[in-house]
Amino acid sequence: MEMESEILSESESNSKKINIIICGAPGSGKGTQSAFIIEKYNLQHVSTGELLRQEIAKGNELGKKADALISNGQLVPDDMIIHLLEKKIDKLGPNHPKNGIILDGFPRTVNQAEALENLCSTKNAKIDILIDLEVDDEELIKRILNRGKTSGRNDDNLETIRKRLDVYNKQTKPVLEFYKNLGKYVGIDGMGTMEEIFERISKAIDEIK
Ligand code: ADP
Repeated sequence: MEMESEILSESESNSKKINIIICGAPGSGKGTQSAFIIEKYNLQHVSTGELLRQEIAKGNELGKKADALISNGQLVPDDMIIHLLEKKIDKLGPNHPKNGIILDGFPRTVNQAEALENLCSTKNAKIDILIDLEVDDEELIKRILNRGKTSGRNDDNLETIRKRLDVYNKQTKPVLEFYKNLGKYVGIDGMGTMEEIFERISKAIDEIK
């Protein structure tokens, strides 16, 4: 009986939260828009690219393996990233003070999307919306080359960008279909000023709230 009410209260508190996936090709502005969304909706940012860069900075085996793949424009293996994500979510715990989570850079494969759906169901949580930032390739390349001047990221160069776009089209695009089938997909025009794009995103989030 007691167990039951505990579970209920957990799902009750989770139901007030909003969990968002922000998706888009490299350079589509996920990081920038995430920062705006976090601020306005008081969400917890979880970026798998950031988690990986933290591992790389530690210089451990996992970091070395990730570094070689990332600088070559490839994805890291699903099991590696799923493990890192689960660790981060567990560290945050169910009672973290924010209104929900924004996932930036995850899931990037259908396998990861399935793992995320499983993780959500074990935590009594759900993804409310996937926001897909749509930007054309020419603009993406321009933005990343520009970012490369100051980001210090060794994957922000022309050769790696082309590979990352290719990987995105082949491995991540099917994730969009996966969420379309769940009725959670919202495409957002990612061309324009940062403010214009954020306005479109806010509208989409307010509609599901
Ligand atoms: P961007 O969106 O500009 O590509 P990220 O910081 O999200 O930048 O990711 C940088 C790199 O980290 C990716 O190109 C990929 O190699 C790796 N990475 C990040 N998230 C994942 C993921 N979910 N699965 C596999 N690899 C990932």
